[in-house]
Order: sequence, then structure tokens, then C-alpha cells
Amino acid sequence: MAVLIGVTSETKVVPRAGRDAPASIIAMYYLEAIRRAGGTPVVVPPGPPDFIYGLASRLDGLVLSGGGDVDPSRYDRDPIDQVYGVDEARDTTELALVDAALSLSLPTLAICRGMQVVNVAMGGTLIQDIATERPDSLVHWAPDTQFDLHQPVTVDSSTELASVLGSSEVKVNSIHHQAVDALGDGLAAVAWAEDGIIEGMSYEGDWPLLAVQWHPERLFTEDPASLALFDGLVARSIARRDSR
Ligand code: MN
Repeated sequence: MAVLIGVTSETKVVPRAGRDAPASIIAMYYLEAIRRAGGTPVVVPPGPPDFIYGLASRLDGLVLSGGGDVDPSRYDRDPIDQVYGVDEARDTTELALVDAALSLSLPTLAICRGMQVVNVAMGGTLIQDIATERPDSLVHWAPDTQFDLHQPVTVDSSTELASVLGSSEVKVNSIHHQAVDALGDGLAAVAWAEDGIIEGMSYEGDWPLLAVQWHPERLFTEDPASLALFDGLVARSIARRDSR
């Protein structure tokens, strides 16, 4: 049986028969990428920690998807004006999921906001807006090129991330205005843009974590390294399931 890979979602209000209804949504390319790698994607809706722990225990793997900003109060900061898209229910859900994934050693691919959520869950902090707080940085919010490989990223060649990607020099897209600042407990920076912004993280323990600041779900149909991240997640999920 194919491994079950949970994908976190966001809440958006959508029209339903003339009335607004909150909906749990996720861009289809995340689901397609998991399917393409041989996994069965399931959408994880928001919910309280006990529900999330129960759900996580049924999964074989996890994708923490991209989205709006984590509430800066989660890392003891006052929000600056550039913070947007804060979703308390999603923060609660995903912080509990990281906790569950860590305790279950659930193979996890953390993408963009997902990588930031992992860092916050482990006690780290975020750059709230790169252009404001690191004005000498490159442009990392580049939606016009979100399907293009345009930003060079260097990956520590001794890491799991480099071996999954098959290279220590990759090109990626860049659609984020926040980034990891101080690293959380057990986390290490393993990939960087040319300006030093952290583009990848690993965990120094038994939790199989692949964390990237870019968006491989928008690149996997054209870029083998992007597909390899999903293949790597599914391979780790199969290995964990088969060893239990
Ligand atoms: Mn970037």
C-alpha cells in the first residue's frame, strides 16, 4: 500500500451557494508532487493538538506547506507592519504537528512557511521581513519567477539535503519575504542563498527532516532536484513504515 503523506492546509473563505464559507485548501501542485513521488496525499485540516497527535500517528510522512506568516508572538516578537496572513488556528495546528512529527520520527518535508514553522516550534526566531530587516539582501520575494530556477543556493555537501538533491549547487525559485533568523534547538543551517539567507535546514537527531525555503512543488515537473525532495520524503516514509 502507498504511504499516506499528510499535507497542511490554509483556511480561506470561499463562496458557497451565495454565502461565504471557511474552507480548508491546499494548492494542487503539492498533492500532485506527492502522487508523482508515489505517495498518497491527505489534506490535514486545522485542529486542536489532541486531534493533531491522533492524526499524525496515522500518517507515514508529512509535508508542511507554504503560506502566510507565523504570528511573531510565537517567537516573542512584536509584529512589524510587513507581517501578513497570520492564521492562529494554522499556527496552533502546525506547531503541534512539528511536535508530533518529532516524537514519532515522522519523515517531514518542510517547505517555505513550513521550514519557518519548524524553526519556531524548536524555539528559533524569524526575520519578519527580509527587505526591511536585511536591506542589503537579494530580492527573495520574486513571484514573477516562481516557476523558474533563478536563485543559486549552496548546500553543505556533507548533508542529507545535498545527497537527496544530488548536488551542493542548485538553482531554485524564491517566493518568501521572511526567513529563519536564530536557529531553534537541534536545527542546523545547511543551505544558503548568495546573501547568506538560510535556504535549508536539517535536524541533528532521529527525526528525518528535509527543510527548504524555496518551493519545489512548483518546479518538480521540470526540475529533477525538486522532484527528488518528494521522492526522498516518500522513500523515508516507506522505510519508516516497513521498519515498524
Ligand atoms: Mn530565497
